[in-house]
Amino acid sequence: MAGLYIILMGVQGSGKGVQADFMRDHYGIPHVSTGDLFRAMKMRTDPLAQQIQEIMESGQLVSDEITNQVVRERLEQPDAKNGAILDGYPRSLGQAQWLENYLQSRGERLTAVLLLDLDLYQAFRRAFGRVTCSSGESYNIYSNSDGIEWAFVEDPNKQFPPRLEATLKATGEKLIRRADDASAHAIVQRIDTYLHTTQPLIDYFEGKGLVQRVDASKPIEGVSCEIKRVINQMRK
Ligand code: AMP
Repeated sequence: MAGLYIILMGVQGSGKGVQADFMRDHYGIPHVSTGDLFRAMKMRTDPLAQQIQEIMESGQLVSDEITNQVVRERLEQPDAKNGAILDGYPRSLGQAQWLENYLQSRGERLTAVLLLDLDLYQAFRRAFGRVTCSSGESYNIYSNSDGIEWAFVEDPNKQFPPRLEATLKATGEKLIRRADDASAHAIVQRIDTYLHTTQPLIDYFEGKGLVQRVDASKPIEGVSCEIKRVINQMRK
């Protein structure tokens, strides 16, 4: 059977990570995130790894040439022989075209571009409202707030708007908010960057009939179920 090559796209908060894990387990193909691959290079001291680290720190994109090379090496690992879930890649039309040509040279093709569709206001609330406790359990002040109490706390110097703080009712533990989730501005900026980089790619793949939209506002299991249905259909 032909391999399963899925490009996974979705705004932050759309559940990309959870659904990538689901597909990895269900289809036995690895989750290939170029961001993770590049971050893993931090441990290396060779010039290429150092160059990549500098680019990432500056918030820029790594060149298509280097990115494609890293993806090629990853897709040639034995665990990717039946396909892969690509996350954070492609991020440019050059990468998209390279990937298609590369797969073709191996007698393979892209199976689908899965777009986890989420209303942007919901995406904002999923990130902005997210709090975790020390055991790793996650809550959301908007959608999953049973067991937690939240309140606005004034900045003592009144220089900044009030901060939102959440506490676990049962133990009084203060819940943690990722610094980049606590900043509305940073969240909006991440959403904006996502829209700008992905839209040309969505248009490109749409022209090839590869884009499949999945409603990501449903509960996790419902989204997984829909993903299975869509992949089955695209595999035929
Ligand atoms: P991410 O975790 O996907 O947000 O990626 C973190 C950083 O890695 C990005 O800001 C880029 O510097 C780099 N990166 C990840 N994927 C790509 C890609 N497909 N093309 C270029 N740079 C990438």
